[in-house]
Amino acid sequence: MQTTAEAIKGKRLGLFIDGRFVEPRSGKFVDSFDPTTGEAWYQFAEGGADDVDIAVASARRAFRDPSWRRMTQTARGKLVRRLADLVLEHAEDLALLETRDNGKLIKEMRAQMRAIPDSYIYFAGMADKLQGDTIPVNKLDQLNFNMREPLGVVGMVTPWNSPLMLLTGTLAPCLAIGNTVVIKPSEHATASTLALAELIVEAGFPAGVVNVVTGGGAVTGEALTRNKSIAKFVFTGSTATGRRIAANAAANLVPCQMELGGKSPHVVFSDVDIEKTVNGVVSGVFAAAGQTCVAGSRCFVEANIYDRFVEALVERTRTIRLGDPMDDSTDIGPLALESQLPKLEGYVASGVREGARIAIGGKRPQSQELSKGWYFEPTVMADATNDMSFMRDELFGPMVGVMPFCSEEEMITLANDTNYGLASGIWTQNIDRAMRFANQIDAGTVWINTYRSAAYMSANGGFKESGYGRRGGFDVMREFSRAKNVVIDY
Ligand code: NAD
Repeated sequence: MQTTAEAIKGKRLGLFIDGRFVEPRSGKFVDSFDPTTGEAWYQFAEGGADDVDIAVASARRAFRDPSWRRMTQTARGKLVRRLADLVLEHAEDLALLETRDNGKLIKEMRAQMRAIPDSYIYFAGMADKLQGDTIPVNKLDQLNFNMREPLGVVGMVTPWNSPLMLLTGTLAPCLAIGNTVVIKPSEHATASTLALAELIVEAGFPAGVVNVVTGGGAVTGEALTRNKSIAKFVFTGSTATGRRIAANAAANLVPCQMELGGKSPHVVFSDVDIEKTVNGVVSGVFAAAGQTCVAGSRCFVEANIYDRFVEALVERTRTIRLGDPMDDSTDIGPLALESQLPKLEGYVASGVREGARIAIGGKRPQSQELSKGWYFEPTVMADATNDMSFMRDELFGPMVGVMPFCSEEEMITLANDTNYGLASGIWTQNIDRAMRFANQIDAGTVWINTYRSAAYMSANGGFKESGYGRRGGFDVMREFSRAKNVVIDY
């Protein structure tokens, strides 16, 4: 694998099309920044419409080519397993690439890279399990059956926050089932996807099965999502961009799978162990500096423990160590985007104007050591109400609003009072109450006495403006294949 953090310093990375790196026809390259220093550290190509067309044509050819189309299911599954082995072998290099690009903790990226291969192995097993149906049709001399086949070229647009981990849940099943793919990674974390493309070739996938066009959303992303030869789009990113991509795709009647933003509620009842629950809430919202789609950034606490809980939350937040993401003792690294800093400051200011109280944080750290990076202190906004702007909008930063509730009925109304529906968490010892919550909450995932615990073996995805389509489990086999009805007269 050529694409390592050390090797690409100061270099230009081309597009990955038809099994190799190529210069972009656009001739354009863009800086990628290291969020710990704010300095550029390599350049990636900005693919234009011509480049995207070439990549999609390569994926179309590969889809029809007998070396892929007529490969047995078992052989395809073995390639996906081989890729799992290579990701594990290069886990350290891949983790370093992502930390340098998005500023997330090296220990978290290492853990992700070590977990990704298991997920490839799980989906590799689907290669030979895609089955059709025989249909009884009231005609005794006819056989009517549905066979399932891959869709064709799948276009994937990914975010920067966990590029390879978020890609795995769709790329692995897509390949196992026999699709080909064009990926557009985020302009804020491009390198690891290019490195993965190299490993895909090394694993033995035919050239053109996976192509990577790099560049920003406005140019490269638009060109890809307007392309008419794509069979399905898979998008992970913000709701605003999802809306835009869905509109582009709809113009060509191309279906989409959408994994979008969230504004997830944490609900805390008074029967809990406060210390354990505070730890759960803290990791549920502040992990990855709040830059997770499932961040539990609205915290509703039963009124009779509200003051005690806020105090404990503030004390626990005080112990969080901000610092260099390469340091294993760091709890929170910098934000990936500089533009997030004024945005968060704005939400703190509007929160205070609207009547909330900064219980802790609310600003950039003062220390000289962190002054160059894009750091923001973990922030607890107490005495929030659900209509304040920081309680309505996805913040994608280390900030949580806390407010009291008095009854179960009020709590469920508050928790559901959001445009989003990605995840939710409830902390209580009362299983009846927890199950009432699970039944009534409009969210694709419900965590009971835990948070951010996801598994690729179970189907998950968003409700409402958090998206549609499901990832994980056997549901993905239907997402990335289609039924073809065949009738035989005999
Ligand atoms: P983003 O929407 O800004 O960008 C995501 C991707 O879309 C990038 O590759 C970007 O270049 C591309 N893009 C932007 N404009 C485009 C356009 N007009 N046409 C085509 N592509 C375009 O999101 P982000 O800042 O990279 O990621 C953060 C967001 O992603 C948050 O909202 C977060 O909640 C969401 N997210 C959701 C999940 C999930 O599973 N639901 C997972 C991770 C992140």
